[in-house]
Amino acid sequence: MPDILSLGECMVEFFAEEPLAEAQKLQKAFAGDALNLLAAASRLGSSCGFLSRVGNDPFQPFLLNGWQSLGIDTSHVKRVAGRNGIYFISIYGQGEREFTYYRVGSAPSTMTPEDLDPDYIAQARVLHISGIAQAISESARATALAAARIANEKHVCVAYDPNLRSALWSVAEARAAAEELLPFVDIALPSGPEESERLFGCASAEETAKYLHGFGAYAVAVKLGEAGVYLSTQDGTRTVPAFAVPHVVDTTGAGDAFDGAFLHGLVENMPPLAAARLGVVMAGLKVRGRGAIASLPRKEEVEAALTAWN
Ligand code: ADP
Repeated sequence: MPDILSLGECMVEFFAEEPLAEAQKLQKAFAGDALNLLAAASRLGSSCGFLSRVGNDPFQPFLLNGWQSLGIDTSHVKRVAGRNGIYFISIYGQGEREFTYYRVGSAPSTMTPEDLDPDYIAQARVLHISGIAQAISESARATALAAARIANEKHVCVAYDPNLRSALWSVAEARAAAEELLPFVDIALPSGPEESERLFGCASAEETAKYLHGFGAYAVAVKLGEAGVYLSTQDGTRTVPAFAVPHVVDTTGAGDAFDGAFLHGLVENMPPLAAARLGVVMAGLKVRGRGAIASLPRKEEVEAALTAWN
């Protein structure tokens, strides 16, 4: 039975080296914050399970087999009639990335609280929820809240990454959704400074951490891109610098890689500071390559980099 559960949507990705108007070849993959996080935690050895839906279109076997080959338990991914979400990444200008989504009405966005199995949640150590899962539909938002309530009742730790996406909803809606969930959250994983400023009106990482502790979170890790992570727990506050790499190729999914490794560390009973260091090394190694999942480092690479860094 998995230790780390994550609730959300994974989409089919098509990547083109050119603008979509010209592209002849597209490379197929899959990604989505909830799944990226599990891929990172599983890579380090955690047992992970995905809470989602998958549609019965021709991509279904690709998605399920792909998730399983990452070591992720799919027993609680509900197979339903419908389409899976798709998005395209294309390149234009000086290597700028453009994201084009075909997501509305996707199978995962039809998830409902009745999908949840309280016994499966109760046996986990951590349940992770993101703001994107709340944003994709009203029923997904209700499912996220119901999952957090179950976890809370069963004394399962709840982790939350607000992951603000303005294309999905307004800041006011995102704030309301965050505030309805935060009373159940033990570990908050926001990004700063821009996201926290827009979402919570907090201008600094210190202010963000205080705000989130105010709802009851015992650990707050504010992700600050190249500036690393600001960690705040009952032991005090620390800024963990980013793990610098010579060539940054793609920062997509860096936050998810941090979240997955950080939660893995906590599940392994590491002190939060050690878990945060593991997280920044995982994220730093990830940004060397393209793709949220394809560029995740091997466990041995992470361990070697961490040892050299200490
Ligand atoms: P998000 O993707 O959630 O916005 P960030 O951009 O803050 O998150 O990235 C998450 C983590 O990834 C950072 O805290 C940092 O440790 C690492 N990271 C991000 N950008 C870089 C970079 N250019 N070089 C090294 N590490 C990075």
